[in-house]
Amino acid sequence: MTTFKDLGLNENIIKALTDLGYENPTEIQEKAIPQVIASKADLKAFAQTGTGKTAAFGLPILEQIDLNSKDTQAIILSPTRELALQIAKNIEEFSKYMKGFSVAAVYGGASIEDQIRKLKKGVHIIVGTPGRTVDLIKRKQLKLSNIQWLVLDEADEMLNMGFKDELDKILEVTPKEKQTLLFSATFPREVEGIAKNYMYKPVEITSGEKNKGSDQVSHQYYVVSERNRYNALKRIADVNPDIYSIIFCRTRRETQEIADKLIKDGYNADALHGDLSQAQRDSVMEKFRKKHLQILVATDVAARGLDVNELTHVINHKLPDQIESYTHRSGRTGRAGKVGISIAIVTSREKGKLRPIERLIGKQFVSTPVPTGKEICQNQLLKLIDKVHDIKVNDIEINGFLPSIYEKLEGLDREELIKRFVSLEFNTFLSYYQNAPDLNDSDQMRGSGRDSDTRGKRRDDENMSRFFINIGRKDNLNPARLIGLINDQKIAKNIEIGQIEILDTFSFFELDKNYQAETIDSFKQNGAEFEGRNVNVEITEKKRSGRSGGRRDGGSSSDRGDRGGDRKRSRDRKPEGDFSGFGRKRPDSKSAFGSTDKGSKRRKR
Ligand code: AMP
Repeated sequence: MTTFKDLGLNENIIKALTDLGYENPTEIQEKAIPQVIASKADLKAFAQTGTGKTAAFGLPILEQIDLNSKDTQAIILSPTRELALQIAKNIEEFSKYMKGFSVAAVYGGASIEDQIRKLKKGVHIIVGTPGRTVDLIKRKQLKLSNIQWLVLDEADEMLNMGFKDELDKILEVTPKEKQTLLFSATFPREVEGIAKNYMYKPVEITSGEKNKGSDQVSHQYYVVSERNRYNALKRIADVNPDIYSIIFCRTRRETQEIADKLIKDGYNADALHGDLSQAQRDSVMEKFRKKHLQILVATDVAARGLDVNELTHVINHKLPDQIESYTHRSGRTGRAGKVGISIAIVTSREKGKLRPIERLIGKQFVSTPVPTGKEICQNQLLKLIDKVHDIKVNDIEINGFLPSIYEKLEGLDREELIKRFVSLEFNTFLSYYQNAPDLNDSDQMRGSGRDSDTRGKRRDDENMSRFFINIGRKDNLNPARLIGLINDQKIAKNIEIGQIEILDTFSFFELDKNYQAETIDSFKQNGAEFEGRNVNVEITEKKRSGRSGGRRDGGSSSDRGDRGGDRKRSRDRKPEGDFSGFGRKRPDSKSAFGSTDKGSKRRKR
């Protein structure tokens, strides 16, 4: 097996790698390190995240850095602040035993003066985001005229994020003789364009196949109707009690909405997107890294800088608009030799989007049924039993109570006792998933009768928002005309419409909850009119049927005491709308998901 020594690295670097626990080079390191040490030729490397690419470009540069000079000798450009910081941190770790070496990260959203002060001291390697780098060049605070290495890390992402102009500007002020190292997981036309314009006869190396996903990742898809997308998401989380996952959404708003719903429903989740302040983003990422959060709902861009290796699942709440993004998303799991699952939740209409992705990743999606209530109960029950098995008993504390406990339980045999203790924790779960509907959307279900059928059943649908509209029968409104009016607002393609109630002077309708804000905005922005009247639409409380009354947020588990330290107080899981009549509580997160587990990757309580 090749060692780092074989690749031509010196003892100081190897010692630092040993401290980090790097025993042998990864494939991309094995290919890139000797190449960059031995040759000045430009390099085009096809590498996914998680393959060890930071060391692949960082180590050979460190090996050749001239510590006698204070000049900046290398610049590494990366798409996000988080990634820039991560790279700088890695380089700092690799250079631990290199006396006098200095690296700095420069990025937006932080004081430019502080960064300038640091640059003035002399920095050998700069890791920068394109915008801030250009800013510093313009202010003449960053001199790149002596650099020998330029690294473009995640070049596809930088172009995706619209940094083409910045890259052009930076590349223009660097010397011709430098060595350019371009690392990208995918090579769309734009990246090839950069390679063509700014690189000279680059050597190509590949870790895994070009654009292909990792072999460690299996790809699954679930077909559900739009209104069941969220419920399917919850079932994926429920069937995997130890889930540690990123759920990818396409927009900041969708990200926040899904995270809010999950938090409200008692999951240990949070959102990560660009509308949050840097401090908020840092805090969420830190919690996720430390596994204080099990589920991170994120936009593609915001998740870029997150360096976590043990994700069990990547979930595509909706498929990305650009198929290359799927490779990035799924590449977040199956890292550092671990296996992972990437799940796409799609509607029948979206199934066609899977084919081009399959061609890109060179792998097939496996059609997977949405977990049934029974499967979820089984997994949760086994998890509960494991916990009972592994629980540490505090003999000293509990001994004093035992005599009266034994007395009370006298007459119950072992089997009966086990059944009762398990039921105590598990009944709520069982009742929650009792008669849980099949969420799979098969093509046969699609037919003319379906709409009217489901509309009737949708009475208590959790996925629908109820809206008030200030027009009614007296305005000649009828259901068909109301549907026409809603469609005219072009809120979203194929948006699901639920119950409609036409009254004399006003009416109500239900629409997919995911588009709640868009619905209000669309009516407002379009200045919607009906029969000469200005139309006003507002959100209204959902009508409660007798069955569902008292269920909303019904009860909390706080009656069981809150032992969760600084963790949030538990909220019971909200049932999927379809069987709201059952049990006031969703399975109690405290009981079914283990409050006393050593790990912190537990749901909030
Ligand atoms: P990267 O692709 O550079 O983001 O690296 C992915 C993860 O793999 C990081 O957590 C690195 O610390 C780790 N890593 C990189 N190279 C090695 C190696 N040779 N041996 C063990 N872990 C590594």
